[in-house]
Amino acid sequence: MRSELYIDGKWVRPLKGGTFDVVNPATEEVFHTVAAATAEDVDAAVKAARRAFDAGEWPRLSGAERAKYLRAIAEGIRTRQAELSKLEVLDNGKPLPEAEWDIGDAAGCFDFYAGLAEQMDNGFEETIALPDERFSSKVVKEPVGVAGAIIPWNYPLLMAAWKVAPALAAGCTMVLKPSELTPLTALELAAIADEAGLPPGVLNIVTGLGAEAGQPLADHPGVDKLAFTGSVPTGSKVMAAAAKDIKRVSLELGGKSPFIVFDDADIEQAVEWIMFGIFWNQGQVCSATSRVLVQEGIYARLMARLIEETGKIAIGNGFDAGTLLGPLVSERQYGQVRRAIAAAREAGATVAYGGERPDGLGKGYFLQPAILTDVPLDSAAWTEEIFGPVVCIRPFSTEEEAVGHANDSRFGLAAAVMSRDDARTERVARSLRAGIVWINCSQPTFTEAPWGGYKQSGIGRELGRWGLENYLETKQITRYATDQPWGWYLKEGASA
Ligand code: NAD
Repeated sequence: MRSELYIDGKWVRPLKGGTFDVVNPATEEVFHTVAAATAEDVDAAVKAARRAFDAGEWPRLSGAERAKYLRAIAEGIRTRQAELSKLEVLDNGKPLPEAEWDIGDAAGCFDFYAGLAEQMDNGFEETIALPDERFSSKVVKEPVGVAGAIIPWNYPLLMAAWKVAPALAAGCTMVLKPSELTPLTALELAAIADEAGLPPGVLNIVTGLGAEAGQPLADHPGVDKLAFTGSVPTGSKVMAAAAKDIKRVSLELGGKSPFIVFDDADIEQAVEWIMFGIFWNQGQVCSATSRVLVQEGIYARLMARLIEETGKIAIGNGFDAGTLLGPLVSERQYGQVRRAIAAAREAGATVAYGGERPDGLGKGYFLQPAILTDVPLDSAAWTEEIFGPVVCIRPFSTEEEAVGHANDSRFGLAAAVMSRDDARTERVARSLRAGIVWINCSQPTFTEAPWGGYKQSGIGRELGRWGLENYLETKQITRYATDQPWGWYLKEGASA
């Protein structure tokens, strides 16, 4: 396990020598210690990225040449899938099969952006038709410069891949700061990039705390673009930092996503997708469908089946075969989720199932999945992100009422709708104010499709070609394609 910073192609100790502990959330034990970068280290990393961008070869390579490095990184991730998955379980607590799934997706993300990098060599220039034939104009795309990326802990390597792969494909150089709760696979990504021969300074990885390393990265004048994934309050700070010197900024923030289930839906299918929508990854998913609206006709039957199936979820160490729900990521997160359940109860909600520490698991941040009903519409449980395995369920009678409740939120990341009536699901999908809408499912995510939120859930889109656009500037090149004088003071026929 690595513990140093990766700056300018070298493993270095932090200038002030600080470290922080890495805790296994299943055992509460400190199992590793990692370098805590401060502003001085961030400055060194940004300067390395700056040199690699301003004077290095990376932005000047063809897309096809950059693609070779991206494919080598994808291969490196695949070769080490078992080791990386294990690190993810130790760091984050998630069940091993989910970690393996994430690592496979991370490799796929590098392959996908390798493909787009290749396309940049020929298909990314566009000719513009102008109304004045003396001019010709084209649009070219160029890398935005040095990108500063800050990511959360819920999908550690995958969130890194969502930023590193498109930024490198675009020709940017970058500094990535992983979450202090889950720094290990990002450091391995640096090692994999190093083995792939990535030129020094192109990718720099600094581990550290938010205020000590994240904020200096957001504030650094040498950064051209900030790409942030995390909570709304931190996103707001990052955006404020970007505003100081007009950095480009993209934000992927929180959510309180609704799931509308109409009474013609198959109850068994609905139960499975509701559970996956909120209990997958311990509910620590930005797009988790944490507010479920069920039409009256099936509400009682669906609730009974949901409670029954939720009771069967195997809770335990992510390494134990069959575990579906691991521990929450940290003591802090565990406390926050428990307090949110207690506050919901005080506000009048009923805990229809769970929400307690499971029997037999005395150590580790384990929590039973929780189902809340009678949740007041103005309570924090209904309006605020809990970021844990806690679902709020309420009945509705009409489509209009369901859409009204669904859209009554300051968030707009995702939403889901389930019905056998295709016209209805299509209509509802279009009326939901969210960047991602799932029909008859919840959560499946594809690298090819845009990801991001409306309202306070963020700005910009990741993944697909939209993810690449995040790291590109648009330049028009306009040529005066005639010898004729312009005619402002040189008249027709005159020559200089
Ligand atoms: P967080 O905002 O606490 O931290 C995110 C990152 O920001 C961490 O690396 C942290 O060290 C850093 N940070 C903290 N303070 C900072 C500062 N002042 N300046 C710069 N960086 C700073 O979020 P979290 O708890 O790690 O993640 C959970 C949140 O992330 C949830 O709200 C979740 O919805 C959101 N999320 C969103 C998406 C998405 O795609 N929309 C994906 C995953 C998570």
